[in-house]
Amino acid sequence: MQVRRDYYEVLGLRHNATSEDIRKAFRRLAFQYHPDRNRDADAAQRFKEINEAYQCLCDPDRRRSYDLFGRRGGTAPGAGFEDFGFGGLGEIFETFFGSAFGDSSRRAPAHGESFHLKTTLSFEEAARGCIREFTVRRTEVCASCHGTGCAPGTSPLECPDCGGRGRVRRVEQSIFGRFSHVVRCTRCNGTGNVIASLCPFCRGKGETTATRTLRVDMPAGIEAGSRITLRSQGSIGSNGGSPGDVIVTVDVEPHLLFTREGLHIHHEVPVNFAQAALGAQMEVPVLGGTARIRLPANTQSGDVVRLKGKGIQQAGGRKRGDHLVHVKVVTPKKLNREQRRLFEELAKTLPSE
Ligand SMILES: [Zn+2]
Ligand SMILES: [Zn+2]
Repeated sequence: MQVRRDYYEVLGLRHNATSEDIRKAFRRLAFQYHPDRNRDADAAQRFKEINEAYQCLCDPDRRRSYDLFGRRGGTAPGAGFEDFGFGGLGEIFETFFGSAFGDSSRRAPAHGESFHLKTTLSFEEAARGCIREFTVRRTEVCASCHGTGCAPGTSPLECPDCGGRGRVRRVEQSIFGRFSHVVRCTRCNGTGNVIASLCPFCRGKGETTATRTLRVDMPAGIEAGSRITLRSQGSIGSNGGSPGDVIVTVDVEPHLLFTREGLHIHHEVPVNFAQAALGAQMEVPVLGGTARIRLPANTQSGDVVRLKGKGIQQAGGRKRGDHLVHVKVVTPKKLNREQRRLFEELAKTLPSE
């Protein structure tokens, strides 16, 4: 069982504290321990304790009784903290402080919406680079009023309710007594300005929704899994928040013949026995065309012919990879009579492996 502390001690006050001292101490501590703001495990308990102490000490009759008789005397019927239940705390707090909390959360700057898009490029498109277009429907600053929300030729006026301050002082009767507190002006919604005649395009909102086509440069050599971020091309933020981005995730289709390794391209080319043994000239496909290669005589399966600089251009750089032809010697699947006779002749002359 927890030892219940003295109410004055809870609020960090001396016994001769004025009602103003009590009010200030409560306000400060309640802000500090409010469960919406303070995530410490014991914050809720502290907040409860602070409330209970305050409820007793803010009432002159109950305070007098508490000073004379202690906690027993301080708990007047029907006014105990327990009666409100913990669930009602937020409401009590709101009543007491007005919309001080709500203010900060409702009007807090918010980031604009970001758009996450995907695209698939062919192997060649990724290797050479290309332009892709994307369509987004985003929120923009109204082009007619430039965000003011005012009709052309007019400008915002100072709010007559708050005199342009965005806040008004309100006196309220709460369970804790009469309180005067500052709240957001409802007429101008805290902006301090009112719009006399609304912009006809955005109806005073200062923003519009527009469909935009964005051209995105896919640099040569881009790899699968790359992400391209177009900063601030998303929707605008609210209350001074930063705009969102457009983020494109790139996928690359595999190639029928080529595989990629960094900037190099690997390519397997089948050749027959005769070509491998005697050497051969041949045309092979490379990026963007063909290239001639010369196989030397006595080429082995697995030998590599390197075509310098025929690989992939480095994204945003000057380097370029190579095209590597991997020779694969293929055994004939079928021989006709004549071919078979020739192989038999040849076999007689070849040494055994
Ligand atoms: Zn407008
Ligand atoms: Zn106002």
